[in-house]
Amino acid sequence: MRGGWGTFTTLVGNSREKASHVSQPPGQLTFVAPRRAKPARHLADLNMAARRAAVAELGEKPFRADQLSRHYFSHLTSDLEAMTDLPAAARERLGALLPTLLTPVREMTTDAGTTRKTLWRLFDGALVESVLMRYPDRVTMCVSSQAGCGMNCPFCATGQAGLTRNMSTAEIVEQVVAGARALAQGQIPGGPGRVSNVVFMGMGEPLANYKQVVEAVRRMVEPAPDGLGISARGVTVSTVGLVPAIGKLADEGMPVTLALSLHAPDDELRDTLVPINTRWKVAEVLDAAWAYAAKTKRRVSIEYALIKDINDQEWRADLLGKLVRNKLVHVNLIPLNPTPGSKWTASRPEDERAFVRRLEFHGVPVTVRDTRGREIDGACGQLAAAE
Ligand code: SAH
Repeated sequence: MRGGWGTFTTLVGNSREKASHVSQPPGQLTFVAPRRAKPARHLADLNMAARRAAVAELGEKPFRADQLSRHYFSHLTSDLEAMTDLPAAARERLGALLPTLLTPVREMTTDAGTTRKTLWRLFDGALVESVLMRYPDRVTMCVSSQAGCGMNCPFCATGQAGLTRNMSTAEIVEQVVAGARALAQGQIPGGPGRVSNVVFMGMGEPLANYKQVVEAVRRMVEPAPDGLGISARGVTVSTVGLVPAIGKLADEGMPVTLALSLHAPDDELRDTLVPINTRWKVAEVLDAAWAYAAKTKRRVSIEYALIKDINDQEWRADLLGKLVRNKLVHVNLIPLNPTPGSKWTASRPEDERAFVRRLEFHGVPVTVRDTRGREIDGACGQLAAAE
């Protein structure tokens, strides 16, 4: 897996800059491009025990960690001035745990303001996007887990520029906190509200940034003041199908919904649409999904973008139906969202209907996703984070 941290241990010059080195004859080290420092440590990177320790390190009583956590996760504020239950000197010291991680660059809205995409700049200039979608009965935050993506699926805009880097736990959590804050403050039409769902369907492959993502999910589902108190059932992790990571996720004891981006029922086509399929085949990835469902008792969601004349033939619907029938599964068909430079488009309506009918014939629960945010390039696969 590319882009992980912790593999670059050689210190150069500036003590915060780390670099990798390539093997050389003994006594020689050749430095290649230095890696930038990590994002600053933030309250949301830490569980409560680690927060207490961090607060103590800053010279404050451990219970201040609870106070600070309540401000951040319950009142959704990082504004030290607003924390009037903390003495001024304490506020100043504790500010070290609330560094600014995300700076909004641009906001775009559609659906009368109920769909909002935000472009964020991270501390090192990397750009990511998140999307808030308010429905009558729920609010879903679609978050990014990496700046860019290394999976290279040809129909997805994010994949075209490759991977910049993994996001930290707090950088991921901050996207949800920002959305929750906007809702609480009544910035989204419909009155004050709460985030009920989080989907890892923004930029990046969440399971390629496993540790940070799992830790971020913990922050989202832990009740306040430890975390945001969102139901684990409301959290969906979407993956191209990194089989060992799916197995690990099943053992985390967090009943999050797994979404598997299948897009083709046969290896020949899936090898081209989801290139990681050359490593883990359709049969293997489906086995991992069924094992996940068995362990977590959660219905697995199979994502299938319908691409005109590429993967939308009835025989493929039939093959898909045979592969997934009688399983704890739901098939989500996504009309392909257009991306720059791609010659592919969404299926014809009659082909989409025939595809649905074929799946229904096999008794497979299927829905066609109502894609939000197309007009602002905020729908699935359209996040390119360009300025
Ligand atoms: N890397 C993860 C999560 C990000 S994409 C994954 O692949 O699952 C979220 C979903 O949008 C995935 O199912 C992805 O395949 C789908 N998607 C990507 N590009 C799309 C496009 N142009 N139109 C419709 N869906 C797309």
